[in-house]
Amino acid sequence: MNYNILEKNNVKYISFNAYEELGFIKHGFSTRIGGVSSNTYTSMNLGVKTSDNPNNIMENTKRFCEAVGVNFNNVVISDQVHKDQVRVVTRDDTTDDTTDDTTDKLNLTSNIKNIDALVTNQRGVPLMSYYADCVPLFFADPVAKAVGLAHAGWRGTMLKIGNKTIAKMTEIYGTKPENVITAIGPSIGSCCYEVNEEVIEKFNINFTDIQNFVISKGEGKYMLDLWEANRLALKEIGVLDRNILVSKICTGCNLQLFYSHRKEGPLTGRMASIIEIV
Ligand SMILES: [Zn+2]
Repeated sequence: MNYNILEKNNVKYISFNAYEELGFIKHGFSTRIGGVSSNTYTSMNLGVKTSDNPNNIMENTKRFCEAVGVNFNNVVISDQVHKDQVRVVTRDDTTDDTTDDTTDKLNLTSNIKNIDALVTNQRGVPLMSYYADCVPLFFADPVAKAVGLAHAGWRGTMLKIGNKTIAKMTEIYGTKPENVITAIGPSIGSCCYEVNEEVIEKFNINFTDIQNFVISKGEGKYMLDLWEANRLALKEIGVLDRNILVSKICTGCNLQLFYSHRKEGPLTGRMASIIEIV
């Protein structure tokens, strides 16, 4: 197992062992445990786009940040749209305003639009993105001291958003792919992810060997392995095998720990990934 489930103040979250050992970052992937939301959002819903009570979402976000040890006021989020645009984030993007510390700073509607991946090399700038089955990709370059997050549903995976995130890190921070440690967090596994012909046809355009991550069930139905598709894409641009950590936790199979859009429908909550250079 390449991860641990950590618990702080009743908030449970996933932590990758290799990331803990790096020493220059804080990171985590939330579970549904430890928040204040109720009903289908029970209890740690972080999804700013859900119809949950905004006060609950805010409180949950604070609790998650507190558990991971990042400053809630500095968190930078993006407006995810299942595409492949990467945004370079700096301290100017944080919502912190030291002249007024009495109000909640996190903007529940992000100013960063149409972006599914965030990268930064600045300290104290926590990046956060949201998931309920889509694949959370984490990036850490201990040499150039840069980090990133990418939201990869089937579209993002098909568009190889992970590779584009590393390409951006290379362009801006001089990152070499062989130095990058990537982690693929909890998300829908091939056990629970059936897709149709239309999805497979799109993968066929961008990937050469889709039989490595697609199993046909007949009648135009397929089981799609997003973890393996992302892993193969990352290898393609030079990320080392040993530096691709796949958690292999299926959100659909673990509803006591995670929300799953596939299994629970649209009124479910969202988990979040977070990463910060300290
Ligand atoms: Zn499953």
